Amino acid sequence: MTNHITELFNIKFPIIQGGMIWNSGWKLASAVSNAGGLGLIGAGSMYPNVLKEHIQKCKNATNKPFGVNIPMLYPNVKEIMQIIVDEGVKIVFTSAGNPKTWTPFLKKNGIIVVHVVSSVKFAIKSELAGVDAVVAEGFEAGGHNGREETTTFTLIPMVKEKLQIPLIAAGGIATGRGMLAAIILGADAVQMGSRFVASNEASSHINFKKKVVETQDGDTHVTLKELAPVRLIKNKFYTELQDLYQQNPTIEELKEKLGRARAKKGMFEGDLENGELEIGQVAGLIYEIKPVSEIIKEIITEFKEIKASFC
Ligand code: NDP
Ligand code: NDP
Repeated sequence: MTNHITELFNIKFPIIQGGMIWNSGWKLASAVSNAGGLGLIGAGSMYPNVLKEHIQKCKNATNKPFGVNIPMLYPNVKEIMQIIVDEGVKIVFTSAGNPKTWTPFLKKNGIIVVHVVSSVKFAIKSELAGVDAVVAEGFEAGGHNGREETTTFTLIPMVKEKLQIPLIAAGGIATGRGMLAAIILGADAVQMGSRFVASNEASSHINFKKKVVETQDGDTHVTLKELAPVRLIKNKFYTELQDLYQQNPTIEELKEKLGRARAKKGMFEGDLENGELEIGQVAGLIYEIKPVSEIIKEIITEFKEIKASFC
């Protein structure tokens, strides 16, 4: 399969693994890259020294291209960017911030830059900032989410109409059928997060992976819109939040309830009751924890079979 995205990254399949906090260490990223996709290390949950270690381990585990996802609201972003350059990382996906801030620096250092957006407006802004491609992520996605609630089915064709650079669709895609649909809507490639959480190689806790497999439609919800909208599995923490909403809480009260490191507690430490469990709606289509190589093989097989059935 050859297109703008496979050529841009020099990969076999137009499948990118989302750089999800607490899930996407070097084992997951290298496994995805070794299977022909593009693996991303999720820097959002890593202190600078931890990220450096993960990059070095990833380089040892694969000779294929891989990248790093950096949320720009990260506290030590400057230090992280220097590590990217020093370690010779070739591909960076930025998210949660203005693409103008770091794109010139990264481009000057010969790095391919992709920015993640959830609206047409920010897709255009990213292209103007000089990024090489855009990930447009719909409201179905897990974790931090767009305020406008635009779904992947509507976002992809709208962004496609406005953009010249390659487009990667994200949010609600976990199967070959979903990948084909995204490409028909105008994407050059797909970014999948949730499907790769339920993999042997994800660094998240086994309790969380098992919970993802049990999750069905209607089991996730976007909450905490006043802080930063986030899609979570409805667990005890979520219910407590909803109870608090009944009392018209202030922003401070919401912040206090959220506390610190809830995402780590849920996804990395496996506390299914009190942690944040960030997963997309598409968890309802994920039935098994598997090795990454099998996941990618299944997706490509299904993609090709369904595509052939239309011709
Ligand atoms: P270590 O980093 O020493 O890891 C402990 C065990 O977890 C080791 O067996 C190690 O395997 C394995 N491991 C580490 N990273 C990964 C990964 N990405 N995927 C799969 N397995 C992994 O100690 P901790 O687990 O205590 O982690 C230390 C800190 O590293 C954490 O507090 C956290 O901040 C950060 N971390 C962040 C991750 C993320 O995705 N954001 C993932 C993992 C760690 P091996 O010896 O083979 O490396
Ligand atoms: P909190 O402020 O609640 O906690 C910070 C967490 O980040 C802690 O678990 C901490 O690990 C870890 N961390 C890693 N590096 C640093 C650092 N340099 N300074 C401070 N803490 C660090 O944040 P969240 O857990 O809610 O979010 C963490 C990051 O993940 C943010 O960058 C956020 O934007 C991003 N995020 C992205 C999401 C997505 O879907 N893309 C969803 C949610 C968050 P420790 O506990 O070991 O100190």
